[in-house]
Amino acid sequence: MAKAKYVYIFGNKKADGDGSMKALLGGKGANLAEMTRIGLPVPPGFTITTEVCTYYYANKRTYPKELQAQVEAGVANMEKILGKKFGDLNKPLLVAVRSGARDSMPGMMDTILNLGLNDQTVIALEKASGNPRFAWDCYRRFIQMYGDVVMGVQKRPGEDHEPFEIVIDQLKEELFPGQHHVEDTKIDAEGLKELVNRFKALVKDRTGKAFPNNPWDQLKGAVGAVFGSWMNDRAMVYRRKYGIPSEWGTAVNVQAMVFGNTGQNSGSGVAFTRDPASGEKVFYGEFLMNAQGEDVVAGVRTPEPVALLKNEQPKAFAELEKVRKTLESHFKDMQDFEFTIEDGQLFMLQTRNGKRTGLAAVRIAVEMVKEKLITWETAITRVPAEQLDQVLAPVFDRAAVKAAKVIAKGLPAGPGAASGRIYFNADRAVLAAEAKEKVLLVRVETSPEDLRGMIAAEGILTARGGVSSHAALVARQMGKVCVCGASALHVDYANKILIVDGQEFKEGDYLSIDGTLGEVYAGELKTAASEIVQVLVEKSLDAKDSATFRNFKQLMDWCAKATKLLVRTNADSPDQTANAIAFGASGIGLCRTEHMFFEGDRIDAMREMILAENTEDRKKALAKLLPYQREDFIGIFKELKGLPATIRFLDPPLHEFLPHEGSLIRDLSEKIGVTPEKIAKRVAELHEFNPMLGHRGCRLGIAYPEISEMQARAVFEAAVEVQKKGIKVKPEIMIPLVGFPKELQLQIDVVNRVAQEVAKEKKTKLNYLVGTMIEIPRAALVADDIAKDAQFFSFGTNDLTQTTLGMSRDDSGSFLPKYGELEIIKKNPFASIDQTGVGRLMQMAVELGRKTRPDIKLGICGEHGGDPDSVKFCHRIGLNYVSCSPFRVPVARLAAAQAALSEAKAAKTAPKKKKK
Ligand code: ADP
Ligand code: MG
Ligand code: MG
Repeated sequence: MAKAKYVYIFGNKKADGDGSMKALLGGKGANLAEMTRIGLPVPPGFTITTEVCTYYYANKRTYPKELQAQVEAGVANMEKILGKKFGDLNKPLLVAVRSGARDSMPGMMDTILNLGLNDQTVIALEKASGNPRFAWDCYRRFIQMYGDVVMGVQKRPGEDHEPFEIVIDQLKEELFPGQHHVEDTKIDAEGLKELVNRFKALVKDRTGKAFPNNPWDQLKGAVGAVFGSWMNDRAMVYRRKYGIPSEWGTAVNVQAMVFGNTGQNSGSGVAFTRDPASGEKVFYGEFLMNAQGEDVVAGVRTPEPVALLKNEQPKAFAELEKVRKTLESHFKDMQDFEFTIEDGQLFMLQTRNGKRTGLAAVRIAVEMVKEKLITWETAITRVPAEQLDQVLAPVFDRAAVKAAKVIAKGLPAGPGAASGRIYFNADRAVLAAEAKEKVLLVRVETSPEDLRGMIAAEGILTARGGVSSHAALVARQMGKVCVCGASALHVDYANKILIVDGQEFKEGDYLSIDGTLGEVYAGELKTAASEIVQVLVEKSLDAKDSATFRNFKQLMDWCAKATKLLVRTNADSPDQTANAIAFGASGIGLCRTEHMFFEGDRIDAMREMILAENTEDRKKALAKLLPYQREDFIGIFKELKGLPATIRFLDPPLHEFLPHEGSLIRDLSEKIGVTPEKIAKRVAELHEFNPMLGHRGCRLGIAYPEISEMQARAVFEAAVEVQKKGIKVKPEIMIPLVGFPKELQLQIDVVNRVAQEVAKEKKTKLNYLVGTMIEIPRAALVADDIAKDAQFFSFGTNDLTQTTLGMSRDDSGSFLPKYGELEIIKKNPFASIDQTGVGRLMQMAVELGRKTRPDIKLGICGEHGGDPDSVKFCHRIGLNYVSCSPFRVPVARLAAAQAALSEAKAAKTAPKKKKK
């Protein structure tokens, strides 16, 4: 057996790995190898594989025995290339120790720079570089990072500032008394030496241990800390949010240092090959002269736009422009990359597919097709379906913005409009959001610890940091509105106030931010629909020529070419129907008729029906409801213009329609002339301990067939009416909560009888289907029998999930979060189909149903119909359509197209079956 390979080298024209090996080398390691292969200047180093991380956690935090020798060989390789030696007293090799999971997790795990320095090697570095300030700057940075990450010298609960930062501020105060905001670069070599001493004292004081001197010990500690950081709190929160399995593990990259902090000819930066907020094809990014990379992303100093580098470093800038082109033509996607310039020479430290907003994703995908970088099929796969939501999100109302005053400007880092109450700390933001407040998180700068608060907030506003700062990166990915680097903000954490433009805002006051323009307004601003909604829903022609709308439309047109699974909508009014069709819905998958009974006087007739003591009275009350319901259907059928409509008969338990409070009961009594006592008695009779499993669904229609009769008549009379106008009508009547074939048969008898009556009365023909919902496990189990009568199945996955899991959707909030944390259930089963449980029942019902009736129509109408993963699942099990709310239709269409494409791709790459 070949010896296990745990270490892969890269850099200096030679790499063991390549870009396809992300699972083993992590995203960073794989792309460092890939950049090496395409001839980009990558400092040499090696990657310790994710398998070592898995081993580490499986074996009580120990390493495979082969690792040590392989690491030593990796270091030796760097030494040879660079002519330096690790721990050497003449030419010391310094390294960066960098984490790197399969998917990038910005800022979630730890990196240590300048490793290999100690009291002796720092002198060597000083001599070799002839630059004492630089040498001591590296050393103090190293102690700071290592002290924090490896030795745990961090903020304690209740402390507001990082201990190392306090020491720096103290020294600055001594060196530059009374001056505020002195940059670190102002501290000279002597000052930095002093800082090193104080840092070491701090480490000793906090940990009781001396700072390790031996570079090999340092390396061991750093590697362990990177693996350890895989399980730190913020990394776990992040993984949960993005569904990254903890089994993946992280790789560790050990790489020779290049120095952006040797002086004014050096610097570090982060850049994107296109604008990740808008998608525009411009070189976008920022850099800091005389700085190491951490300074750029940490948001401590606000960096300069990358375009300015042209003046300061024309040669390096020209090279960077070349790199930008090379990266895009090679990776065929927008890249987010990190670079360092050391004395005018450019080095590449990282590249990855850049995170982008939904808006940018659509634009980049469509434009890359035009540029012939990718095919239209690839373009479809490039927009995460979930993100398409963002292009439908509201913007500020134009009139409201005109009337409002801009109190501060910052960088437009996450587009969209957000208004909310401001909170200055993540915990309080989370609490407020839990109390259903709209929250804006306002920070001087954000750090990974703020993640929970950022998730809870509508928008994020920071005083410091650029467009690649932590806040901006995370906001873009989550689709949060974000304005950062609004330097006019003075955030006073201690007093919980924000001072800006001469005004004072307390925690809980309203602010509004426009992340597309980077503007901040006082108070709560009115929002308006996105351009896409303006065109499609509000039918405004103004926005029709906007790039946003055209790109969106192009993408949707491509989706229509690719998709197999159709997308219908859940709608119970003509308006909703029209909207959904404008978004590309191919019919109604769920029309909930009970919603129609809540408006105006209808509810009174409904209540009269429920309170009726005999069939005769009930029929009288139902006769009052009939015209209403007929009118509703007429409106809907007209909007559908021949598209099918699945209409569900009355489903909820009757008590939901009755008043429960004394005063409301008295009001009703006056209106319909039934005594309050009688009403109260009926309410009591209808009370159920578990209404979800009570007298509802088809059980109502079976107990009171006259209800179904009225509903059928309303549907068919409406159909006749609309057909007369030359519009086709395709009603699909759906009987809810069926578990026994007989239940369905009884209801079908009613429907068919009424259909014949209406056809005879109106002397016309009626086209319709009758089918059922599959929403309790028994229905799935006997689906073959049910399919004898049902012409279609629609999976009611809300109830099917409740009944299969035995969990009530409304009562699971108390324990589901814990289940998520423990990974008992990885995703909320009410948001995304529990594919291994509920999904298996669905698959079974599909097979059984098709066995009996090969042409049976299959769909899904639960909330899951708008969830991309669930949509893809529905495609895989061969449903004909999904149904979701009107505004989710584009998301579902995109997901459906993606599912079809990934199936086609799998079919292409699957090994061909051998001919016999
Ligand atoms: P993250 O995954 O959080 O971005 P990185 O491993 O990319 O962490 O490191 C953070 C920063 O450290 C980078 O932005 C880069 O500028 C700097 N850095 C990483 N490796 C090196 C190196 N070999 N030489 C100089 N700077 C480096
Ligand atoms: Mg990085
Ligand atoms: Mg149901």
